[in-house]
Amino acid sequence: MNNDNQPCSAGDSTFSYTDEKFADLQMLRYRVDGFARLTVRQKALAYCLTEAALWGRDILYDQNCRHNIKVRKVLEAIYVTGAGRRDDDGFAALTTYLKRVWFANGVHHHYSTVKFEPAFSEAFLADEYAKLPDSALPLDGGQDRDGLWDELRRIIFDPSYMPKRVNQADGQDLVATSACNYYGDGVTQAEAEAYYAAKRQAAGDHSPEWGLNSTLVRRDGQLAEMVWRAGGRYGEAITHIIGWLNRALEYAESEAQRTVIIKLIEYYLTGDLRTFDQYSIAWVADTASVVDFVNGFIETYGDPLGIKASWEALVDYKDVAATARTETISANAQWFEDHSPVAAEYRKPEVKGVSAKVIDAAILGGDLYPSTAIGINLPNSNWIRAAYGSKSVTIGNITHAYNVASRGSGLLDEFVIDDAELQRIRTYGDVTDELHTDLHECLGHGSGRLMPGVSPDALKAYGATIEEARADLFGLYYIADSKLIELGLITSPDAYKAHYYTYMMNGLMTQLARIAPGAQVEEAHMRNRQLIARWALEHGRADHVVELVVRDGKTYVRINDYEALRGLFARLLAEVQRIKSTGDYDAARTLVETYGITIDPVLHAEVLGRYAGLGIAPYKGFINPRYEAVTDAAGRITDVRVTYGEAYDEQMLRYSRDYAAL
Ligand code: ZN
Repeated sequence: MNNDNQPCSAGDSTFSYTDEKFADLQMLRYRVDGFARLTVRQKALAYCLTEAALWGRDILYDQNCRHNIKVRKVLEAIYVTGAGRRDDDGFAALTTYLKRVWFANGVHHHYSTVKFEPAFSEAFLADEYAKLPDSALPLDGGQDRDGLWDELRRIIFDPSYMPKRVNQADGQDLVATSACNYYGDGVTQAEAEAYYAAKRQAAGDHSPEWGLNSTLVRRDGQLAEMVWRAGGRYGEAITHIIGWLNRALEYAESEAQRTVIIKLIEYYLTGDLRTFDQYSIAWVADTASVVDFVNGFIETYGDPLGIKASWEALVDYKDVAATARTETISANAQWFEDHSPVAAEYRKPEVKGVSAKVIDAAILGGDLYPSTAIGINLPNSNWIRAAYGSKSVTIGNITHAYNVASRGSGLLDEFVIDDAELQRIRTYGDVTDELHTDLHECLGHGSGRLMPGVSPDALKAYGATIEEARADLFGLYYIADSKLIELGLITSPDAYKAHYYTYMMNGLMTQLARIAPGAQVEEAHMRNRQLIARWALEHGRADHVVELVVRDGKTYVRINDYEALRGLFARLLAEVQRIKSTGDYDAARTLVETYGITIDPVLHAEVLGRYAGLGIAPYKGFINPRYEAVTDAAGRITDVRVTYGEAYDEQMLRYSRDYAAL
């Protein structure tokens, strides 16, 4: 903590949105200009929450794979000793590998979840390892140098060992074949599913999200949970998080926000999921606070069974002007629900409390760092969403940074079919993109209802893809609606065409750039986009609604009939909502397996080739700003300074050093 009295400086004349590029990754930066306009008290609150947001980093590494923290620590120890050898082949390869590990919070790719292949040799690493003193090694639990080396050698160099973090392949035991660390040795998929299904059934309608915050292990032949809480598993990290939440309490904006923080502390102390539900309810109710945050075990994408949540954190503050846009949408939520193409029995008679605001991120942590979402919609608990609504946000400064970075990347010129489409995208693309995100988050996820007796988990492994498709389709259908012009959100009746074009282009072609040759589509959002685009292509084929045309050896999307395309989206929305409402597992499976997963290898190779020609990294992530608190003699925070100059490796090494909990 800093005691000198220099003024807060958010300005930085050398700021650039883009930073270094390595492997398939591009580092970006985001600005927090609105931070300077916060009151001192709000800045102090935000500061304490950013500290809480950094202390859980090690939890995520361990969740992603039990070897990750050791790999990171050893590679970092080698990296910091080798400053003079950065250009050696082996050292350069190790540097790239370490940067990828930092980005993915582990040894598996953050998106494909496939294990990284090192471009340095085992002999090189053995040499470097031998030079490290014992004091630089993570030797604990009775492990000696040789034992640690064997562990590292196997996880880094044996391609058959833990090849995938999250395996979704139909028909295999997903627990046994996934490298993530949510289930103990010998726990099978079938028994884990049965264990939690029984708990859910016993708890009835207001069941907590059982299993969300624990490792399921076998102990004396019985299944048992190791709960993530103070004094329990990950207790060292959680205790630090609690410490900073306690400090944040001093600066809370209101009683409502104090309640939120107190409930979260209580939950971290006890690990009680009913307390987590109380926290979520209090958090949804607090819509007035300018500074807000997420800190906890939230999303379940990292568990092949979708039960266990990875640790993530976000601190944010309200962007007042842009929030007006989403409030307009929310205020009309019932109109949108009532006019949707979904069968009446699957619509919600009363859409409740969809609060919506645009926020700026102040810090990204855990599973939101460095790769982040551009919008969030929480809580995930279905019964809380139904009874209390949800808080839905678009992260404005992150979206802006992406847009600035992609402008001038040459992507549109390469893949858009002609000048007329290109012009329309340049004119309306940013606006319609933001609106689609708003519609997806504010209305899409909150729309529709389950039929009585249908389990929210009925679609199992296909649930996430179907849910994202539902939200995307809701947005696609309404972005073309004249209601948006009436509400003053869009100026031209043609604007939506810009978004339809880029959506189809992405779903059919450009998102394939993120996938390795020979692989399939795995991630739920990507599956959803391909599902929608391919389904529309197939079902509009007879009427030539959308086509893939080849010109001079290059494939392009051509949309011949935008209105008919909207009609196709409406049809698919109705079907996807029916699947969700009735828990039609077979239909979900057929839809996802038919359209969402497989890739035409010829088209894939073409996209990769054209992408390579552009030199664009398919994945992007962010370097956080750095915050330093200025305190008075009594330890009260009197100001918070913001700087942007920290390099990617500096930031990662600082986090590893200053927030080493596990
Ligand atoms: Zn979504």
